[in-house]
Amino acid sequence: MKGIVYHGEKDVRVETLPDPTPPDARGAVVKIEATAICGSDLHLYHANFPLESANAFTLGHEFVGEVMETGSAVTGFRPGDEVLVSGVIGCGACAPCARGEVVCCLNQQTRVFGTTEHLDGGQAEAAAVPVADHALLRIPDGVTTEQAVLLTDILPTGFFGARMADISPGDTVVIIGAGPVGIQALLSAQLFGPARVFQIDRVPERLAMAERLGAIPVLADEADAVIAEATAGLGAGCVIEAVGLDATIQQALHLARAGGTVAVIGVNTSSALAFPMGAAFMKDLTFRTGLVPVPGLWSQLVPLVAAGRLRPEVVFTHRMGLSEGAEAYRAFDARENGILKVLLDPSR
Ligand code: NAD
Ligand code: ZN
Repeated sequence: MKGIVYHGEKDVRVETLPDPTPPDARGAVVKIEATAICGSDLHLYHANFPLESANAFTLGHEFVGEVMETGSAVTGFRPGDEVLVSGVIGCGACAPCARGEVVCCLNQQTRVFGTTEHLDGGQAEAAAVPVADHALLRIPDGVTTEQAVLLTDILPTGFFGARMADISPGDTVVIIGAGPVGIQALLSAQLFGPARVFQIDRVPERLAMAERLGAIPVLADEADAVIAEATAGLGAGCVIEAVGLDATIQQALHLARAGGTVAVIGVNTSSALAFPMGAAFMKDLTFRTGLVPVPGLWSQLVPLVAAGRLRPEVVFTHRMGLSEGAEAYRAFDARENGILKVLLDPSR
């Protein structure tokens, strides 16, 4: 089969790989029908992510498809089932995993597909999925393939950010970043009834999309002044950071008003982040962050998508073949031609 293999900084290659087999009795093999590239993959692309070794692995943690083969202990799925796969998985057996809180796995088995040589990803024609009964969800009626891809990671991530930000009706929300994750955070924030959502970015097309979806667009260079002016110098009650830079995390803390809440969903693995502790202390801030517990959010998000209350698929601006994987990474990283999110078709 073909897959996009990570070799190092800006070096991703479409290669021929051995066909996967179920990892063990609890695992399955999924033939992939659609997959995508995440902003988190760009941290790898920039060699800005801690790795266990220099060994190559297949990228991708957003993928859906058809179950081809199941191990003998899999009870909930059969070959032929159309499924989406959680981008983040745990041991599948402990109490937090049973609730979908895979990031709190008591057996320290929290893993993200396609970020380690020990769990190949789904930017490929097929993938081996451990703990299939916990990692898979049958694609529900009323949910399209494109929507299913977004339920594997970034819609749950945006919703997780909105929920962590403690948004109440009438609140002022600031979202830093209007990439695909920031847009999912906007759609999710709107479920909680904010009076206004300001969305900050540098890319005009991304700000235009945020505005079409109901946000007040703010250019990054003007953000501090615009938010200060709009809040009489107080700051916003709820700030969601969806970029992952030291500077934008510090800005999130700065833009929050006293008593406010900051939710960081951008990935930042820097150990040198200067946390403005004094300012946070004097403002009585709540600071939350975390890796998204994908399966734990499906029971809330699937009905919203199926009912048409959430339309996460607006982010897909480009559709390419898996064979064009290297070019897809380059273009998404360069944010050129209005590219926001690329859907990859493994059959091309
Ligand atoms: P992306 O790279 O497409 O988007 C980032 C956006 O931030 C871009 O639009 C960029 O123009 C903007 N930006 C850069 N500097 C800025 C600044 N100073 N001010 C305002 N905006 C700025 O990536 P994405 O797919 O949208 O992902 C966003 C982040 O979410 C990444 O860090 C990714 O790793 C993270 N993520 C986290 C989780 C989680 O579990 N918490 C899950 C998925 C993705
Ligand atoms: Zn992701």
